[in-house]
Amino acid sequence: MEKIYDVVIIGAGPAGLSAGLYASRGKMSTLILEKDKTGGQIVTTHEVANYPGSIESATGPSLIARMVEQCKEFGAEIKKDTIKEIKTEEKIKVLVGEKETYQARTIIAAPGAIPRPMGVPGEKELTGKGVSYCATCDADFFTDFEVFVIGGGDSAVEEAMYLTKFARKVTIVHRRDELRAAKSIQEKAFKNPKMEFMWDTVIEEVKGDGVVESAVFKNVKSGELTEYHADEEDGTFGIFVFVGYLPQTDLFKGLLEMDETGYLITDDNMKTKIPGVFAAGDCRVKSLRQVVTAVSDGAIAAIQAEKYIEHTFHE
Ligand code: NAP
Repeated sequence: MEKIYDVVIIGAGPAGLSAGLYASRGKMSTLILEKDKTGGQIVTTHEVANYPGSIESATGPSLIARMVEQCKEFGAEIKKDTIKEIKTEEKIKVLVGEKETYQARTIIAAPGAIPRPMGVPGEKELTGKGVSYCATCDADFFTDFEVFVIGGGDSAVEEAMYLTKFARKVTIVHRRDELRAAKSIQEKAFKNPKMEFMWDTVIEEVKGDGVVESAVFKNVKSGELTEYHADEEDGTFGIFVFVGYLPQTDLFKGLLEMDETGYLITDDNMKTKIPGVFAAGDCRVKSLRQVVTAVSDGAIAAIQAEKYIEHTFHE
């Protein structure tokens, strides 16, 4: 571990890749570490319609592939490793990974967030067997089947619309009687003949032997419980869950400041309380979690890392 990187970035989603681009283009030695798949959540998105400049056929994976290529062109390294511990007592910080240990002048934390589970009985056991958190990945399995989408935000409604291309019926199950999703997205959904809505309703339990066979719904106003059984011919149906996200910040517990839900606290320059440690993207406390804000965070963090190195190591 003799090499000391100027910047080690944790996470290769849009925030991490943008930080990697700005850092490597700024001639800083840059390493991007990813524990899972490159790209973060956006690679599970079939359409990226609101990232400036992406108009036709822009998908999450295609956008990420271009970001990766651009980073590598400027010399950033991308490696697969899971960081287990970070030591920041010295000026040179140490990141202990499962595979290797790394040294860095600065760290940019861009670990992103993952889909939040509903937390009901049967959900975990039947994940991948009818319960899904990714329409792009699993929609095809439900061609001509019935599908329920849980949640009322942008993700739930957009992904439900996508699912109507496959499923014969898509029912949005929302805990209130009004969607949270943007009005423009709602309008399209209300016009879609394949979409139905179950208001004031939550799932209490998912049941099935090997695959989802039934689900217990609860009307939160009346308290009434109803068990929905799969159509006999189908034998199963889909439950797609989009009830928000959980920041992937466990690694930073006790090290960085976070809010009560685990999102990292930074200033406008992506600085954490530890000099030389920055945070970017969906893991941060912020008002809008989008690709466009993630890449912006990444760029700011990289430029600030450069300023920090200049000030701390070269003066
Ligand atoms: P979100 O906006 O937090 O919405 C989560 C939805 O799940 C809400 O409708 C919420 O209900 C519901 N919910 C939360 N916990 C629940 C539970 N335990 N049981 C049942 N329902 C539950 O999450 P999101 O839709 O994933 O969006 C996350 C962020 O990404 C947002 O900032 C969103 O704007 C953005 N996003 C944008 C786009 C786009 O612009 N095209 C697409 C996708 C996501 P309540 O409404 O009652 O709270």
